[in-house]
Amino acid sequence: MTVAPLAIIGAGIAGLACARVLVDHGRAVQLFDKARGPGGRLANRRVDETVFDLGAQHFTARHPAFRQALSAWRDAGLVAPWPTRPWRVTADGWQPAPDAERFTAVPRMSALARHLAEGLEVHTGQRIIAIRSTPEGWWLAAETNAHHGPFAGVVLALPTPQAAVLLGPIAPELAAACTQRPMTPCWAACVRFSTRLPTLEAPAPDWQTAAFPTGPLHRVIRNHTKPGRHAQSESLTLLADVAWSIDHLEDDPDTVAAALLAAFAAQYPAPLPAAELLTAHRWRYAQPVTADSDGPGYRSGGNGLALCGDAWRDGRIEDAWLSGHALGHHLATRLADKENLHA
Ligand SMILES: Cc1cc2nc3c(=O)[nH]c(=O)nc-3n(C[C@H](O)[C@H](O)[C@H](O)COP(=O)(O)OP(=O)(O)OC[C@H]3O[C@@H](n4cnc5c(N)ncnc54)[C@H](O)[C@@H]3O)c2cc1C
Repeated sequence: MTVAPLAIIGAGIAGLACARVLVDHGRAVQLFDKARGPGGRLANRRVDETVFDLGAQHFTARHPAFRQALSAWRDAGLVAPWPTRPWRVTADGWQPAPDAERFTAVPRMSALARHLAEGLEVHTGQRIIAIRSTPEGWWLAAETNAHHGPFAGVVLALPTPQAAVLLGPIAPELAAACTQRPMTPCWAACVRFSTRLPTLEAPAPDWQTAAFPTGPLHRVIRNHTKPGRHAQSESLTLLADVAWSIDHLEDDPDTVAAALLAAFAAQYPAPLPAAELLTAHRWRYAQPVTADSDGPGYRSGGNGLALCGDAWRDGRIEDAWLSGHALGHHLATRLADKENLHA
């Protein structure tokens, strides 16, 4: 008897981690993502030779399972420690601020997702708008009018508000669980300057990233200080804080980009060079409001539907990977148990 494949909606790090485990256990898996490539919030924007990380900038690796994966990625030259020179901007000015060890993907964050997606069946440009149950299995309807199926099960590896929309008509309890895990937005502006920023007077003048404990900025990242990008122009990602992002959620991107650049200029101790490129990206669902590191890190309904993603643990890359990884193992075990029962 041929076993129907499993579908995973969302090829961010959670969906990819889940798929990898299932495939390693011999399961057929198909991933669907609305974007042009895998990665989700590990996205970057490229303008000419300049690459901006738009979402996640770096990540921690605390959990033993994630550290093990990290070790293989480091050996493959896919990730490297960064930042080594983080700063913090308070009322006392700009100060070096040593922090927990973090890593970034080389040469851009999306490279890690592309690596995880290698060998997987990923259907991009497929925004799923409905999930349907039939006697043969689950079917997915895409905005393109394509219908995909039948599948033995469907994993929704999506931000919870997007999962809730799809689950509402078919699994109200799972949809309700999603609405209990709201997510906050984040505006991200990208600015490229004609020359390097003036160097700051301090023990570690060549800053790579700066945290702003009070808004409207949350963090500023110098993309060209990341490994593999030293040749590119001075290029900053300016991340707004949650409160400011909520207040300005429906503003137009040009207005937001100008406001965030002005906020940075007001905080920088020297005049800024001319900005030759300025854009902004709205993340409607950037990070979950609540953390839940004690639960299983995923939701699995008895009907073949399951959920993973950062919102089921906490709002970090590490959490998203752990969530997908744990769900992959759970599903692989459950499927094997089922087959043994019917053998
Ligand atoms: C601005 C910003 C800064 C961040 N900074 C950090 C950081 O410094 N460190 C850190 O560890 N984490 C950070 N994060 C969080 C981190 O990016 C996330 O925790 C992680 O990437 C989430 O992965 P995921 O797979 O759960 O979800 P996602 O990456 O959101 O993946 C979900 C995927 O689903 C797709 N999708 C959505 N709806 C549909 C649909 N209907 N049909 C088909 N596909 C769909 C999307 O295109 C996306 O690819 C940041 C996030 C943002 C936005």
